[in-house]
Amino acid sequence: MTYQRILLKLSGEALMGEQQYGIDPERLMQYASEIKAAVATGVQVAVVIGGGNIYRGVESVAFGLDRVQGDYMGMLATVINSMALQSALEKLDVSTRLLSGLTIQRVCEPYIRRRAVRHLEKGRVVIFGAGIGSPYFTTDSAASLRAIEIEADVVLKGTRVDGIYTADPEKDPTATKYENITFDEVIEKNLNVMDMTAFTLCKENNLPIIVFDMNTQGNLGRLMDGEALGTLVHMGGAAGRSTKKPVSDAAATLLPNLVGKLPEQA
Ligand code: UDP
Repeated sequence: MTYQRILLKLSGEALMGEQQYGIDPERLMQYASEIKAAVATGVQVAVVIGGGNIYRGVESVAFGLDRVQGDYMGMLATVINSMALQSALEKLDVSTRLLSGLTIQRVCEPYIRRRAVRHLEKGRVVIFGAGIGSPYFTTDSAASLRAIEIEADVVLKGTRVDGIYTADPEKDPTATKYENITFDEVIEKNLNVMDMTAFTLCKENNLPIIVFDMNTQGNLGRLMDGEALGTLVHMGGAAGRSTKKPVSDAAATLLPNLVGKLPEQA
């Protein structure tokens, strides 16, 4: 198996589909079936979903509202999306647990790392709602932090673009895609992969990121089968192994599988 445990980050905006706001039920079910297919391969799946389709904290400042209040509103938006995804997964008979960074006792469990890991070991999809539960962060940061805490092998950032490009491919037709790129190169070239807090967390903990197109049916399953989709962000060096911490068994298995995406090793 390519991976033992993954953390999938989905943006709230992607959930809108063609709509201007809210949740597109078709897109939601599509994501749920992609996740179901990944679970069927035996991989343990954790998910963080954003809230941008409903509310973003920074918007509150433009409205003249308090930023911190807005960020908590944004966190609640991620809980709404997480609940929707949970329902969609359950409709497909996938066992799930929703763990929230904010305590919302009636609808979800509080986030407790050991509990999250136990759910994953039992084959349940764990959805992390409410980000990290603190203002001034994003769900990208929550994805990085939770992935590190649960010792995921990789963060899979599902977007509508199929990887990281030299420039925005929706604006610049000459933009080309990177098959793989190091954390340092991303910083040097000022590429936009995640916000800096989230990105730095991954870099400092040698947690690879794969940016891929989540809207093409079957892509998540293909990644689980070891296909080199999207763009891999890694440490560089010997297949990304130049790490401060020892590489876990799972990551050791994962890395050779990703070698197809890595540049020639010295
Ligand atoms: N948020 C926060 N702390 C967190 C996670 C999220 O304050 O740990 C708030 C923040 O206001 C953010 C909003 O929740 O704008 C929605 O999350 P995000 O913008 O990351 O969603 P996405 O862009 O992925 O849809």
